[in-house]
Amino acid sequence: MAYGAHRSPFLPPHPDLTLARDCEQCLGWGTVVTRDGDHELCRMCQPSPDDENTAGSTS
Ligand SMILES: [Zn+2]
Repeated sequence: MAYGAHRSPFLPPHPDLTLARDCEQCLGWGTVVTRDGDHELCRMCQPSPDDENTAGSTS
């Protein structure tokens, strides 16, 4: 219930740095910067996040 305050649209997603550690794609950051300047999870080392927000679609 106390969760949710973590989210901010201005911060990059939360990568698993343990997975990113040896990644050459993101150099350990777990995120990469797209051509648009957005941060997104590194596809090389991070598990695929949900593709876009499917609002209200909880299975
Ligand atoms: Zn990576």
